[in-house]
Amino acid sequence: MPKATNKIDKKNQLKLQQQAQLLKSNLSTTAAGVVAYRETSGDYGDMSHQSEQEWLFVNRNKAHSSELSLIENALQRMKDGTYGICAACEQPISRQRLRAVPWAKYCIDCQDNAGRAS
Ligand SMILES: [Zn+2]
Repeated sequence: MPKATNKIDKKNQLKLQQQAQLLKSNLSTTAAGVVAYRETSGDYGDMSHQSEQEWLFVNRNKAHSSELSLIENALQRMKDGTYGICAACEQPISRQRLRAVPWAKYCIDCQDNAGRAS
């Protein structure tokens, strides 16, 4: 077992796996709708012809997809033994932050810096 794996990581791993499962089932039930949407519109950029409901639907799926990729990323980093290490400065991410954001890839400082830069 990598050094970074401890009780909190185990707990987070479970939490992440459950969340990924939930998001996957949400996505699969709506996947057909998204495919149909993509085929007619080509991309998500132009919302002017879409009803508000469709727009909300697509956005919700986009949010789910990106959340799912964050979670799968975190699960992969657990396998690699790099979970809990900031991807930018390579310092350990605080336990408090990992409890609040189990899929955090950056420490709070780097996340702040990224937020300011964009
Ligand atoms: Zn950092």
